[in-house]
Amino acid sequence: MANSVELQKIVIEGAAAGPHLLITGGVHGDEYEPMPAIRRLAAELGADQVSGRLTLVPVVNEAAYALKQRCAADDLDLARTCPGKVDGSITERTAHSLSELIETADYYIDLHTGGQICQVLPFSGYALHADAKILEVQRQMARAFSLPFIWGTAAGLKGRSLSVAHDAGIPAIYAEYLGNGVCSEAGVRAYTEGCLNVMSMLGIIDRLHLDPYIEYVVEDERPNAGHMQLHNPAPIAGFFEPAVTLGQLLREGAELGTVSDVTGSDVRQVTSPDNGIVLTLRTRPRVEEGDSLAVIVDVERPLNG
Ligand SMILES: [Zn+2]
Repeated sequence: MANSVELQKIVIEGAAAGPHLLITGGVHGDEYEPMPAIRRLAAELGADQVSGRLTLVPVVNEAAYALKQRCAADDLDLARTCPGKVDGSITERTAHSLSELIETADYYIDLHTGGQICQVLPFSGYALHADAKILEVQRQMARAFSLPFIWGTAAGLKGRSLSVAHDAGIPAIYAEYLGNGVCSEAGVRAYTEGCLNVMSMLGIIDRLHLDPYIEYVVEDERPNAGHMQLHNPAPIAGFFEPAVTLGQLLREGAELGTVSDVTGSDVRQVTSPDNGIVLTLRTRPRVEEGDSLAVIVDVERPLNG
């Protein structure tokens, strides 16, 4: 179709039979660590090492990437627009191509970061799938990915790459690694390693994988737990000064920070609604009313409780 968006992808067709793993980066155009990480995987892996097929897409959302922004010019968030439509706006068409590609995979990994406005404690996440078998595979994939935090959240969120995989019954995880619009070498390496470890776990490559050190596993069934933009909204537009750091453990009621107007005559304190760990933190100081300042996740919540 003339109007469809062609995703630039690298396909490695293995010499031996095996599953089809899809790995994507750049669903948001300003999230950089995934992009070189995926290119390094392509450079590192030859067909003779692979059992099955790897489809690698370093930058899904090229229209947003060209603008150096999270979203393309139509201002739609690609991760809220899936499955998109073939005759829609640029983001809707990109979502359509991405969704079609996801449906061809047996397993899926989608790599993100906090982008330009926030940073995220490195974690791997998945939807709490009603199918126990799929959920268990996702748990194993997240664990193999070897980031210190694992976050399972309710499956009801719509429009995402992971919701397409969810609805198609394809085991899928996503990952987050810091942000601030930079590209840290540590993040690129963590992502390359994480993907190789998942490939090894799925039998796609042969690789020694030491048991990872996982600090927290949190599964949260509350409907909007995984919707990070809804957490701890700014009470007014203004200047956010955090009083906490990423990964800090907080008690309910602890100060998260303040939002001030220009002269400092109106200063609003924001407090943590729960005991928990600071999983994401806004780093761009200028905020609009309602912007999420931080995500606090209760790490004492018992598994499946
Ligand atoms: Zn993202």
